[in-house]
Amino acid sequence: MADVTTSQTLKKNGGYPMHTFEDLKALYFPYIHDEKGRDLIERAYHLAEEKHRGIFRKTGEPYIQHPIEVAYILAEHSFGPATLASALLHDTVEDTDLTVEEIRKEFGEEVAMIVDSLTKIQRMKLSHRQAQDFEAEDHRKIFLGMAKDVRVILVKLADRLHNLRTLDALSSERQKAIAKETLDVFTPIAHRLGIYQMQSEMEDLSLKYLEPEKYEEILNLLNKKEQHRQGSLMALRKRIADILFEHQIKFRMESRVKSIYSIYRKMYQKGYNFDEIYDVLAVRIICQKEMECYEILGIIHQTYKPIPGRFKDYIAMPKPNMYQSLHTTIVSGDGNIYEVQIRTEEMDEVAEEGIAAHWRYKEGEGVKSAKEEQRDIEEKLHWFRDFVSMAGEEEESESAKEYVQNLSQDIFNANVYVFTPLGKVIELPTGSSVLDFAYKIHTKVGDSAVGAIVNGVHATLATELKTGDVCEIRTAKNAPGPSTDWLDLVKTNSAKTHIRKYLQKKQGSLLTAEEAEKRGKEALLEAFKQVGIQDEEKMESLLDDERIFDRFNVHSVNELYQRVNLKNPAPFQVIGVLHLKRKKDFKLEKPLPPGASPVEVEGASNVLTSLAHCCTPIPGDDIVGYVSKGRGVTVHRKNCPNVKGDNARLISVRWRKKEGNSVYPVDARIFSQDRSNLLADILALLSSRSTKVSALRANLVPGTMNVVVTLTLYVSDTNYLEETFHAIKSIRGVYDVSRIIH
Ligand code: MN
Repeated sequence: MADVTTSQTLKKNGGYPMHTFEDLKALYFPYIHDEKGRDLIERAYHLAEEKHRGIFRKTGEPYIQHPIEVAYILAEHSFGPATLASALLHDTVEDTDLTVEEIRKEFGEEVAMIVDSLTKIQRMKLSHRQAQDFEAEDHRKIFLGMAKDVRVILVKLADRLHNLRTLDALSSERQKAIAKETLDVFTPIAHRLGIYQMQSEMEDLSLKYLEPEKYEEILNLLNKKEQHRQGSLMALRKRIADILFEHQIKFRMESRVKSIYSIYRKMYQKGYNFDEIYDVLAVRIICQKEMECYEILGIIHQTYKPIPGRFKDYIAMPKPNMYQSLHTTIVSGDGNIYEVQIRTEEMDEVAEEGIAAHWRYKEGEGVKSAKEEQRDIEEKLHWFRDFVSMAGEEEESESAKEYVQNLSQDIFNANVYVFTPLGKVIELPTGSSVLDFAYKIHTKVGDSAVGAIVNGVHATLATELKTGDVCEIRTAKNAPGPSTDWLDLVKTNSAKTHIRKYLQKKQGSLLTAEEAEKRGKEALLEAFKQVGIQDEEKMESLLDDERIFDRFNVHSVNELYQRVNLKNPAPFQVIGVLHLKRKKDFKLEKPLPPGASPVEVEGASNVLTSLAHCCTPIPGDDIVGYVSKGRGVTVHRKNCPNVKGDNARLISVRWRKKEGNSVYPVDARIFSQDRSNLLADILALLSSRSTKVSALRANLVPGTMNVVVTLTLYVSDTNYLEETFHAIKSIRGVYDVSRIIH
């Protein structure tokens, strides 16, 4: 038993220690005091031990060693009872006769849910053939989609880490496959979550199996420099400590060597020489307050020569995984180059453990009611969901702005992955229904579909599918087939197009053109009522609009009615093109009588104008007029995308000379660090400038400590707006403020 774990660690002390359940207990007893929690873990261990008894791992030790080590890794990050119990039970449903139901009865809903998800992920292991069809990114998305809770992912990562540590018992082919999958799927997720420790160990281990020679080479290069390095490093640390002591700054210091995998990436993917890698050695200074970070930076730069272009302020601009720190690279007295990282204790905790720092099990944080705790978890889950939907991209240096963009893109483009009973994966856009799935299999299956069995339960054609669902379509020979209602049930364009064609064919024989027009008109009128237009004639005049004809490629209002009857376009799309808003916030641009308008149309004095709501132009802006039938001229900013490419209807307009002290609404967006009193400070500043404001709203940017505040300001002109923006930027925590175009 003594040397079954033959895997070499990066640490000099050889193999990994094997832990007993007693060792595990010693690890969590200091932070889990609650009797119920301790009991849950203990019972999970005993049941797992009983169920796995007599089974041995390829490495030779009893199987239970594996779940103990997985739980141990998680306990090192101070996770709670449900997570540890789930880790101990994670392989029981897959490998023994224990069922999820039994776990639910014994350990409750939480543990059952985690183990169930882990089992499903395990079973989804794609066959080799399928695995090749998958992009790594899809694979990551499937995994994240199936993990219903962050704890599922954390247990899975710990599971993978322990398997990597004990990979020596497997064939070289399996070793490479597992290592590759780890780098494709799991380390990017660990990176996203900011769990640096797990990420780094998994990367180094994977490299060891994938590129053994290069791994050895780098290890040797590092060792060769080791002796020289020790002396230089000690001198640097002592000098820094002395100076900080003089300045009476409380701190602690650490040093680290860059991981083998990140050196490998620099050398073999970015083409650097080993000697050109500046941050092989890093010194980390951890202080108490954010302000001290900048103070220390100043002191370091006074003492050592910084290398230009290497300074990064991740405190003002945190990385998407919440990493905060100041980075600079300096030349030490003896000519060695060091990266210096400066951060507070709090930032350090997040840097090392990422999301784990937030999910750490905390007792006695004040008693929370069950309901509050639930809400707390849901909130965390919510941002976590948004957060992981990004897991596709890798670039480290993206700004927070890009992050927000990518985030929304990813949410809109997100997919679900649904299985056929035979295990084939069908990819569908989020929100897709059983009917979409049926059409994706074959149009004939779609046309004759009557329902489905989803995860063993009857479902209607309208049922929305989720990643991981297993769906079996039920068809019937005498099925009613497509109807106009079906157009509302499907999300995919291919299904919509097919249904429309089917109906068009059928309609040709069933409905006369007049009937189709009549029905389409009724449907549209119904929709127009919702935006406050009751009158048929009024609707007709609004519909007689080039934008509509262009957008939907029709030549008359009657043709439009026929098409609306086929829900192509749907009534709400028509309304969208006209920029009409629902009654709730019904806000048609009110035309100003020619004299009262701040804008005049060149060469025509008697035209009604109104300021567009999409881009909120104000005096000083470059503007252009858009001729809209029956409503005069709408004034847009020149760069407003809503009037781009419609040159035939654009005319020149200009601001009149200013009269009186009119103010005009401007929609703006403030991007800021989230902190208490932020909104109050914004309002106080605006009121001190007598600037009226409305529609103030703050939204947390998921997965960050940042907020986006949207608001409407009332200002006289662009000069005043500039000044106001300038003042807003001086508010503590604010990164940026800009105008919005809807
Ligand atoms: Mn396992």
